[in-house]
Amino acid sequence: MHIAVIGTGYVGLVTGACFAEFGVDVTCVDIDSDKIARLLNGEMPIYEPGLEQLVTKNTQSGRLRFTTDLKQAVEQALVIFLAVGTPPKSDGSPDLSFVETAARSVAQHMNGYKVIVTKSTVPIGTGEHIRELIREEQKGKLNFGIVSNPEFLREGAAINDFMRPDRVVLGSRDDEAIAIMRDLYRPLYLIEAPFVITSLEAAELTKYAANAFLATKISFINEIANLCESIGCDVHDVARAIGMDRRIGSKFLHPGPGFGGSCFPKDTQALASVAEQFGRESLIVDAVIEVNRRQRRAMVPKIEKLVGNVAGKTIAILGLAFKPETDDMREAPAIDIITGLIERGAIIRAYDPVARTEAAKVLTGIDYVADEYEAVTNADALVFVTEWNQFRALDMRRIRDLMRSPRIADLRNIYEPTDMRELGFEYVGVGR
Ligand code: NAD
Repeated sequence: MHIAVIGTGYVGLVTGACFAEFGVDVTCVDIDSDKIARLLNGEMPIYEPGLEQLVTKNTQSGRLRFTTDLKQAVEQALVIFLAVGTPPKSDGSPDLSFVETAARSVAQHMNGYKVIVTKSTVPIGTGEHIRELIREEQKGKLNFGIVSNPEFLREGAAINDFMRPDRVVLGSRDDEAIAIMRDLYRPLYLIEAPFVITSLEAAELTKYAANAFLATKISFINEIANLCESIGCDVHDVARAIGMDRRIGSKFLHPGPGFGGSCFPKDTQALASVAEQFGRESLIVDAVIEVNRRQRRAMVPKIEKLVGNVAGKTIAILGLAFKPETDDMREAPAIDIITGLIERGAIIRAYDPVARTEAAKVLTGIDYVADEYEAVTNADALVFVTEWNQFRALDMRRIRDLMRSPRIADLRNIYEPTDMRELGFEYVGVGR
């Protein structure tokens, strides 16, 4: 089977590479000619563990191609995935212009029956909206199917998440389209991945509901963490104990500087705006957004409480990406934290294992250094912002000796407070 993936970003590239690995013929299309040129050159436009090997292998086998030529890709394909961005507009509702443009372009080049699948996270009703757009735009009266197939992969673990998903959700009212999608996903049927076949609307809502629920867990534990700070107990003991209850589960109960990334902030806002559109309240989601906003704003004062006036002080930042194992800086807590510290006159020295190039696009006026030890040399405080695994095994004695003042704001609770205090650090974490 031939498929086309429109939009070769975090989701589109992983989707394309993984389907090629399943044995499908895949053409990945993007309007960003630089991105396509880099891919044709064997260069990865993003950092995602394991992606480069998968792309190289499948490009060499001829099953995975990259192009800016949407016409040819659409003509060849039976299934066309839309994996373009849906960023938030200023009112929080998702900007569908990329999806609409891509759908129109697909319609113009249809030459037979096609299944058009939204992988992008889109508001409820988008599938039907795309159906109308395609009907309007197509030259002939070609038959086509519309499917919603929301993507649940996590950056940093995207390939495994795609290859071994907790579930695959397919929403459609077109039986032929569903049959083709089942065929496409046959390798996942063989490993008994669960499939939820449902309506377009239920599939669209599932993605927002899933992300909002995960964001709720994060805001909830952050609220409990703040309470722990006032009570004087350790949120990790509480999180561990509540997580042992299988109805709750232990995942996503890690306190920190508030959620970021390209999905949770945008999708919680989008769900609130969907609720409003349907005349419903979104009290829980609104609270999740507000708790997160406050949590993110509380980090600079936390650092100031540790350091005092930060003006003229050197602050070492370890970790810039919104989470480990990615270079994605979208809505990264590091942006608010560093901007806030710079506004107060701090000098920032920062290190991230892979996000430096992406970070430099949004954070200027800071000194990007080559490793952790260079970052802390003569620093007045060390702030852990992203919990990269390599930060868990640092030589903390050496770090203490390199710093001007041994102080740690551990916004990811990487280290044990008692261990750090025994080593002579002043230490603050989140909720402990
Ligand atoms: P991205 O910004 O990394 O990639 C989008 C790509 O689409 C870009 O390369 C852009 O140039 C391209 N594009 C835009 N308009 C185009 C057009 N008309 N034709 C061809 N290409 C076009 O975005 P992403 O992170 O991959 O997210 C894509 C969608 O998937 C979003 O709706 C997002 O919410 C959703 N999603 C993302 C993740 C994630 O972890 N990043 C996970 C699940 C779902």
